[in-house]
Amino acid sequence: RPRVLSGIQPTADSFHLGNYLGALRNWVGFQDSHDAFYCVVDLHAITAGHEPKVLRQRTRVSAAQLLAIGIDPDRSTLFVQSHVPEHAQLAWVLNCITGFGEASRMTQFKDKSAKQGAERASVGLFTYPVLMAADILLYQADAVPVGEDQRQHLELTRDLAQRFNTTYGPTFVMPEPFIVRDTAKITDLQDPTIKMSKSASSPNGLIELLEDPARVAKKIRSAVTDTGREIVYDPGHKPGVSNLLSIYSALTGRSLDDLVLAYAGKGYGDLKKDLAEVVVEAIRPIQERTRMYLEDPAQLDKLLAVGAEKARAASSATLRRVYDRIGFLAPA
Ligand code: ATP
Ligand code: MG
Repeated sequence: RPRVLSGIQPTADSFHLGNYLGALRNWVGFQDSHDAFYCVVDLHAITAGHEPKVLRQRTRVSAAQLLAIGIDPDRSTLFVQSHVPEHAQLAWVLNCITGFGEASRMTQFKDKSAKQGAERASVGLFTYPVLMAADILLYQADAVPVGEDQRQHLELTRDLAQRFNTTYGPTFVMPEPFIVRDTAKITDLQDPTIKMSKSASSPNGLIELLEDPARVAKKIRSAVTDTGREIVYDPGHKPGVSNLLSIYSALTGRSLDDLVLAYAGKGYGDLKKDLAEVVVEAIRPIQERTRMYLEDPAQLDKLLAVGAEKARAASSATLRRVYDRIGFLAPA
């Protein structure tokens, strides 16, 4: 079975609906078709400032949410990045074959460092894409599900793999971007022209998987809709209503056409009321299961330790080969 790797940062108290419908939900499906490795990337989470206690808690909550949505540790490998030292070890080697100019062209660094101020942005943030390359190449992943925002980083990963392979001999599998069809791109409820995101959305524009259902319903009822009153799917002219329809469709499996037909002659209020119920019903079991996993942190940590063992079995073989190829003297 082809191998897939994906990671998510523990940088929020909860994942949001965009993360879930745009990325995490696909992770569940890959478990049937792929040899799947999923990690909570805490090394990446310290590149832009953090609170130690908060990071530790968010790492557990992130893992609990992944289990809650259906990541099954028996059918995939779920682990925390810092539990597998090979990530940092390979990242160092890759740093040494990455050009400074090459890294400087990464647009995510440009965006994020511009926000923080160039003097304050860390070298870790600068070299983040190299660590991401290490995450992927360590596992010899064939496919990496990526959103548009990560495409450039995957290109760098491929360049580095190619460079290493030609310089030191075939070592890494060349990872392919995995574009999942029908993946919903969710926009902000208050400003449907921007994507729902933890850093750019206002609290009312964002739906968190773990937030109070009554509040979620209220946010949906007060989502910004468009002029006119017809319920049609037209992201260009009616981004607000179209976003609500996308969420509806993604959560129920009903096609957009079917929904538009069902809401013909009805008002925005009807759509919002029904969608609020759909979303609340979708997140309620996720919340219950997340709570269940968090009730026993020792058990959760044990489960992650097993995942880390499995991850190390795969990654240590790659690192050994890399160290050998690059000319490090093996310890006797
Ligand atoms: P940040 O604002 O810090 O970049 P984010 O909200 O964009 O955070 P990420 O952690 O960058 O979240 O993204 C995690 C995953 O969720 C990525 O695979 C990304 O493509 C996906 N994703 C994020 N926001 C959305 C969205 N609005 N719609 C669909 N997919 C999304
Ligand atoms: Mg993002």
